[in-house]
Amino acid sequence: MNTRQLFRSSRIHLAFWYASVMAFILSLLSIGVYRSLVESKWWAIKQEMESIAGILHDSLEPMLPTSGNPTQVLKAIFPELCLVNQPCNNNPSLIQRHTIGISDRSTYYLRLFDHHQNLLAFSPHQPFQQSSRLESSSWQIVNLPNGIRYLQFSIMLHSGNSHNQTNHSHDDSSWGYLQIGRNLQVFDTEVKQIQFILVIGFPIALTLVAISSWGLSGLAMQPIYQSYQQQQQFTANVAHELKTPLASLLATVEAVNRVENSQENIQTLLNTVERQGRRLSNLITDLLLLTSLEQNSSQKQFQPCCLNDLINDLTEEFLELAVSKNIDLTCDVCDEEIYTLGNESELYRLVANLIANAIQYIPSGGKVNVSLNTEHKKAMIKVQDTGIGIPPEQQKRIFERFYRVNCDRARKTGGTGLGLAIAKAIAQKHQAYLTVESIVGEGSVFTLEMLNQRL
Ligand code: ADP
Repeated sequence: MNTRQLFRSSRIHLAFWYASVMAFILSLLSIGVYRSLVESKWWAIKQEMESIAGILHDSLEPMLPTSGNPTQVLKAIFPELCLVNQPCNNNPSLIQRHTIGISDRSTYYLRLFDHHQNLLAFSPHQPFQQSSRLESSSWQIVNLPNGIRYLQFSIMLHSGNSHNQTNHSHDDSSWGYLQIGRNLQVFDTEVKQIQFILVIGFPIALTLVAISSWGLSGLAMQPIYQSYQQQQQFTANVAHELKTPLASLLATVEAVNRVENSQENIQTLLNTVERQGRRLSNLITDLLLLTSLEQNSSQKQFQPCCLNDLINDLTEEFLELAVSKNIDLTCDVCDEEIYTLGNESELYRLVANLIANAIQYIPSGGKVNVSLNTEHKKAMIKVQDTGIGIPPEQQKRIFERFYRVNCDRARKTGGTGLGLAIAKAIAQKHQAYLTVESIVGEGSVFTLEMLNQRL
């Protein structure tokens, strides 16, 4: 599998899992919302029916007869109800008055049963033919063949005088039962609408999730892809950098073997071998240092470092080199002692790289100044030179590994192209900022801004 295929299949995997997890969460959410909506509507209907039944029960109870044939009494209380086996007086206005909140006759109906659960009376316009016996459970759902459903609720009625009587002819002084029926068509329609919205909405949401998953997985893969490419570029650069000194080494060794050489000649060739070997060794040391800096960003072994001492030591160390190149190396260190938390040898290496570069990329007679002071409670180290300068478009790139402004020139100076990359990595490890300002032909200023640790 080549790199492109590998990244594409990883992206597909990522998008698939992202979409699957989102689909799972969406389904759970939809089921939850659906159930809570339906349950709350169902609960509201039941509450409504219970409260209507309660109101009717309370207003009927005092008027109910204790014994004898209740037909005549019922006729008096509910002139609008149809009595069993009697002609039905169909006067809607009266039933509306009695049924208070259930005035919608197409939605509600009433039935009255005696305590033997036999039907006594019922409201006119019953939506369907029902048994004249009361079912035992208080809540029932009646399904009609045309798909319409009714919910029925039955409540026990007590006669007004029964509470005072001691000898009851039947259990618990029950007079009979009141049954309220309710049409569930509106509820069913609303539930169907919710289902419809979910059935239509869910695939649309899933499609959007799938599209966004694809886009997001692309975004997620981008830094990995870039890092992979950088890694590949790095490997290619390392191979290239190793190739040149190795080729030179081999050529030198071959020359020693092939030709009859004088002692002097052999010495020159051995010097070349040593130089190339040293260059290889430097390159490998730099690579190992860079890798260890990137792998180990731990600040555990940090100690307070005196920056004044560090700058003074470094200036002293580079003075000889500067003098040999006819460069005026000066140093301005403030009187106040400035400390920072860090790894001294790494900080040493960082500033040394900056000073070495300043001396490297400056014509004879130039000036290099290293300064240390505090600005806005931060320690500032500046390495300023009057050298060749760096073009603006290259200033960011010089911190990349193996990047050289002028490849041939820099290679001739013996630089590995890793100096500033190492400096940047050390700065990052110390939470410091390394920046450059430069004008071509006038010189450069490298500034290191560090935390100032007061002791
Ligand atoms: P090298 O080991 O080649 O010097 P560096 O990473 O230290 O690599 O620097 C990268 C490039 O930045 C160099 O090739 C050089 O062109 C440029 N550079 C660094 N410091 C300076 C400076 N003080 N003045 C001009 N150019 C510089």
